Amino acid sequence: MFGKAAIGRKTPGWCAGLLVPLLAGVGIGKPAHAGCFPVREPQFVALRPLVSRDASQALAQAEARIARLPPGSARTDPRRVAALYAIQASAYRELALYHAARASARRGLKLLRGAVDPLREQILSSYAASFNSPAGIARALRRIKQARASLPANSPSALCLKITAGELNILRNRSDLALRELTQSYLRAQALGLPAARIDAGVFLTDVLRRMGEYKQALALIRQTIGWDKAHNSTNYLATDLYFEGGILRAMRHYHRAIAAYRSDRALSTTIDNRQGVAYANLRICQADIALQRFGAARRACNRAAPAFAAGNARAMIKETAVLRARIALGERRPRHALALLNGVLDHSGADLAATIIVPAYLARSRAEAALHRYAAAYRDQSEYLRRFKAENRISQARLKAALEMRFRTSEEFLRNAVLTRKLQAAAHHAAKQRQLLHWMGTAGVAGGLIIVLLSYILISGRRHRRQLLVLANTDPLTGLPNRGHTAQRATRALGSALEHDRPLTVALLDFDHFKTINDQYGHAAGDYVLREFARLSREALRGGDILGRWGGEEFLLVLPETTLDSALLTVGRLCALASRIDIQAGEPPTQLRVTFSAGLATTADGVRTLDEIVARADAALYEAKDAGRDAVRISRAASAVLGSA
Ligand code: GH3
Ligand code: MG
Ligand code: MG
Repeated sequence: MFGKAAIGRKTPGWCAGLLVPLLAGVGIGKPAHAGCFPVREPQFVALRPLVSRDASQALAQAEARIARLPPGSARTDPRRVAALYAIQASAYRELALYHAARASARRGLKLLRGAVDPLREQILSSYAASFNSPAGIARALRRIKQARASLPANSPSALCLKITAGELNILRNRSDLALRELTQSYLRAQALGLPAARIDAGVFLTDVLRRMGEYKQALALIRQTIGWDKAHNSTNYLATDLYFEGGILRAMRHYHRAIAAYRSDRALSTTIDNRQGVAYANLRICQADIALQRFGAARRACNRAAPAFAAGNARAMIKETAVLRARIALGERRPRHALALLNGVLDHSGADLAATIIVPAYLARSRAEAALHRYAAAYRDQSEYLRRFKAENRISQARLKAALEMRFRTSEEFLRNAVLTRKLQAAAHHAAKQRQLLHWMGTAGVAGGLIIVLLSYILISGRRHRRQLLVLANTDPLTGLPNRGHTAQRATRALGSALEHDRPLTVALLDFDHFKTINDQYGHAAGDYVLREFARLSREALRGGDILGRWGGEEFLLVLPETTLDSALLTVGRLCALASRIDIQAGEPPTQLRVTFSAGLATTADGVRTLDEIVARADAALYEAKDAGRDAVRISRAASAVLGSA
């Protein structure tokens, strides 16, 4: 999964808003048998959901289990072994170690041949996703759909495939689709009495919500799961779910409450003698205490975590603990100790670690060096930190852009606006974090102006990014004109002002004639060209206050403030002439294609009050123009004047 970098998309309010009440209304089924994995022990079943919350831990546990497999088990119990490889593959993928992910997936696949097997599909999906390519993920989704079609809808196998489809949709940043698949899976698993599958779905669902910034929903969901765990005395799930709860609370910056959740998790993990679980709880407590600047408490928690990681040889976790200990040492003004720890962490220049661990390690080391007045080294690490930070930022921006482009292909403007609002908020949040960093660097006053300049650069680029987002949010990508949502916004404002001050305003709805034929005969690119050219020429021909926006496919809305019907007719006539000049040579021998449109006009003089009303009238007039044979203009009053009809 694209862990740290992904910024989730927001789904329509009704969906996220209804989710928890909806889920709460469902009766809780009795546990029957396990979920998607062929292995029954609860510890094992809890391992897969752990991948999305803490891939390093899941990886360490999967590796430990693989190491403990008795010889020959790949032959006697292939699905069980393959399941471990599946977990390993998705954990590697989560840590962006794609090569290793593919190797694990291949090992798992080798053990599974034959009929439809959800486990096999899961591994194949992991394999596809490890190429980090949207096309591969789309292929995997298609295969899952086929496999599902051959299974009874309510079978556990079909359910497992549905959950995998949800997970893949998270991977390709389609949180909206993931939300749907996983909600349905969650409900179905509950109805069928499949607690392990329900927990799988629930945890991915929590993850989607968390990525979308829907922390409250995520929290409500995990708490509901916790309620179920308690009611069924399911200590193992309960411990894992409390750990997830802590993670969400930490993301919400509710550190005290996060610590409380981790403490409960720790107590439970102790009773079932899950030492890794205890160590993880301690590590996260340490992290939250650092955020609260309670360095003594943090040190004690980290000290308790470290031995279990060392015993389990969990390399990434050992290093993550060392970074936290270094941050504590810095807080306690022991830079020399911090430096020693961080040199150990960065001994392979971070090539062996996930960015979430490595990027802060460089920052911490530059702080330690600066505190020891080693400014050249501090500067080097600071630059390295900035480079990596920016690279991470670029990745997340690229994903954001891909997500936006996908959105632009759908016509649901309202949905789109909600998504973008959320993204803008996320960008603002990001900028605030950068500002905080800048503030810290300012007070530390270590490596002087240069660092401040570099950080200011990041801050400014963040602002620029936000501005770009805003422009993207409002612009139709093909024509560069305001998109429908933005056009409606501006038109509503102009109309309100016209009505308030009793000034004339006219709108025209323009629709190209026989556009389908242009596409069919000369190709879609020719159609696109006509739309782009029309937008370009018209933009130049209109006044500053006029609004021309893309209203739908080949339909444009023109809003002319301070304009009576007569002058509006002249303006539309001008656009008509411009359209006819669009230079498009087609056919053999090439002939000049004549492009025309029809238009319907309506004005405030008709006594309209809202944009919907005035557009509806313009639309009715447009249809009259089409009925009259096209290449014509009609106005919405009874005594309509006729222009055009060349
Ligand atoms: P009419 O004169 O009745 O308006 O006929 P029409 O063919 O223009 O009307 P219709 O609404 O049936 O078809 C509109 C066509 O516009 C269909 C669609 O493929 C095409 N279209 C919509 N958006 C785009 C676009 O972005 N690019 C291209 N090339 N074509 C588009
Ligand atoms: Mg048309
Ligand atoms: Mg049309």
